Amino acid sequence: MLWKKETSKNNAMYVDLYALNGGRVNFNEVDSYVRRDESSSTLNKNDAVSLQKRKQGNEYFSEGNWTDAMEMYSESLCYAENGSKNISLAYANRSACFLKMKLYNECLVDIELAKKAGYPADLMPNLDQRKEECLEAIKKVAPSMKLGSELSFESDEHFPCMANVLKIDQDAEGNLGIFAKKDIDVGQTIVVEKAFMTYLHTQYGSKCNICLKDQTNLVACKKCTVAMFCGECQSNSLHEYECGLRCSNDSQTNSVIMQTVRSCLLAIDMFSSVEDLMNFVEQAIKSDRNQIPTTLSGVKSQYAAFLKLPMNPADQNLIDVIASTAIAFTIQKILLEIPKINSTFKLKKYRRFLMHLITHHYRAMKMNSLESGWIVDEGNGEYVALASQTGVMKCYLKHSCAPNVVVTDLHGNIVIITVRPVKKGQQIMHSIYTDLVKFPKDERHRILWNFCRMTCKCARCEGDTAPFKLRKEMCSNPNFQYIVKQLIAPARNDDEAKQKMMDNCKRFLRKYGLKPWCEELGMVVQVYFELINHRQEYNQENKHVEKKSFNMSLLTGLLITLLLLAISCYYF
Ligand SMILES: [Zn+2]
Ligand SMILES: [Zn+2]
Ligand SMILES: [Zn+2]
Repeated sequence: MLWKKETSKNNAMYVDLYALNGGRVNFNEVDSYVRRDESSSTLNKNDAVSLQKRKQGNEYFSEGNWTDAMEMYSESLCYAENGSKNISLAYANRSACFLKMKLYNECLVDIELAKKAGYPADLMPNLDQRKEECLEAIKKVAPSMKLGSELSFESDEHFPCMANVLKIDQDAEGNLGIFAKKDIDVGQTIVVEKAFMTYLHTQYGSKCNICLKDQTNLVACKKCTVAMFCGECQSNSLHEYECGLRCSNDSQTNSVIMQTVRSCLLAIDMFSSVEDLMNFVEQAIKSDRNQIPTTLSGVKSQYAAFLKLPMNPADQNLIDVIASTAIAFTIQKILLEIPKINSTFKLKKYRRFLMHLITHHYRAMKMNSLESGWIVDEGNGEYVALASQTGVMKCYLKHSCAPNVVVTDLHGNIVIITVRPVKKGQQIMHSIYTDLVKFPKDERHRILWNFCRMTCKCARCEGDTAPFKLRKEMCSNPNFQYIVKQLIAPARNDDEAKQKMMDNCKRFLRKYGLKPWCEELGMVVQVYFELINHRQEYNQENKHVEKKSFNMSLLTGLLITLLLLAISCYYF
């Protein structure tokens, strides 16, 4: 149904997706269900809440929990009323966190922000002393853990996010893939991509609302309490439309809906007219998905690649079609409540187009978004994602149950890091679901089939197995023994211990990483995965943040309920 026109005529309208099954599905009912929290406002600045957040921050600070304290001071900024002294006090306290976290530039910026916001004169000596301390510390700064924060090689000329040791090409089956142009070592950062679409689901003091940058001098939106911006994003054009918009108090439902709203706003904003947008989208969709892209250096080329992201073939069944249509219906209603969008999309022809665009964006993100920063939801005790990002580079990676890279996130970027050596000419492969690597073949195949109708023929599923002698050799390898020993009885859990563990993994993988897959190799790759995923917490113990063990899709419990509701509308 998606992108079908009513007739074969050139100027025909797109079919009405909401008339699905003769219009018997009552989407209005679903809409009112999803948007049950519509009345709760985010335009609720409140000095009392701001003060309470700052006090909570002080408590974390006194416990030596710098990260949580920093986030709490940021939240205090979100709630502080314009012109209130809470603003300068929160900046000043946050600067102390940055100092402790050895983020010296950020510390200096916050000190200036505190002064600009009218920091009380009688307290000023403390602030000046902190500044001096900070300037002193900068001189002795040690090289920090850089893995993932920048490319390990020069960047490619046309794909600035990709190392110049890679190329995008067609594989033997004619599908696009990324290949090594020369040998690449373990632990190399080969892609650092600023995602095309990002969304912060909850904990609004933790990251930039637009680009998800963290550990930076976030400044709060002047109107709402749920958006903070980094230096680069303060003048963004998106938040103006979104400010005050919220569809649900359930963070996951809200973000599934609102991130699609944002992606549409982003696309609409890129073009001077609906006609231009329509032509662009139609071109992108019609073009060959496996054509080798020539560039990804502008926002439009990124959008074209976004439109060509693969969608989940498992979504073709009736239940999923109804669910995604119901969600699209809600999203369209929210979009049309924005006056500018409403007037731009007046024509029926345009609204039909919008219907398809929303569904397309929603399905593309459902299949391709990378969710990160798992936290325990205080309401229901379930794991929820802190943020999600949809980039395009990941879709050029082939799936393998014996991956040679891991895809992760760092400071708002999508990062790809090698976890085994890669030989010149070899294809870059990741595991669609990171934890899949742990499971036996039958289980892996069942999961892959259920979630994306895939039958894996990777080297691990179909190829050679490691001979017994080789496995025995791996087991007696000193790096392997060190890793096992640490897993059974970890000596310590500090930065140094983790770094040592990483070094041991790296040495083992350098030696055996290209051998046929076996349990020993798999275990080390898995440990290395985990260490990479946790490296952000190296400097601080963050008691809220834990890694969720198995992440399958965006569908939350609520959306499943919604789905059941849609089905009951359909049958009765
Ligand atoms: Zn930003
Ligand atoms: Zn706002
Ligand atoms: Zn496989």
